[in-house]
Amino acid sequence: MPKKTSKRRSAPDQDKLIVDALRDVGRPLSAYEIIDQLKDKGLSAPPTIYRALNRLIEDGLAHRLESLNAFVACRHPHHEGTAVFAICGACGTVREFHEPDAVQRLKAAAMAGGFAVKEMAIELRGRCKDCSVPAGGIVASAPLGDDDQHGHDHALPIAAAPRPARKR
Ligand SMILES: [Zn+2]
Ligand SMILES: [Zn+2]
Repeated sequence: MPKKTSKRRSAPDQDKLIVDALRDVGRPLSAYEIIDQLKDKGLSAPPTIYRALNRLIEDGLAHRLESLNAFVACRHPHHEGTAVFAICGACGTVREFHEPDAVQRLKAAAMAGGFAVKEMAIELRGRCKDCSVPAGGIVASAPLGDDDQHGHDHALPIAAAPRPARKR
């Protein structure tokens, strides 16, 4: 066992403080926000925080969101494989879910091209269910009405754009 000092918290203790902070907040936190949350608890040295975060990520207790440069607690007791994150740009909540088949397909496609995947981050940016409800001011441009019965096709006109003329 390493020597103990009264000031220093043990590694498991540090890890637990960080995971608890992430769980309490319920949204991604940057390393600096984590430091801010924990400085009152005697955990404020950035290298200590980064080491603890790396341990948590390795143990599958937390994840790093690449596109936000932030961290979230894992919601799954037994994390396996690459997680997919849906990040709401309005309220900042993150939903974690698992699509092992899709992950496997992406890896296989990369491998087919001779690419060896070492790391993978899948992050979807958009609006969560709560935030996509039009609230007062911002109104969706689609007219409201009997959507089920107005008799035309809602397929998006993906192929409708004319080809650009190449002649000048
Ligand atoms: Zn997870
Ligand atoms: Zn939201």
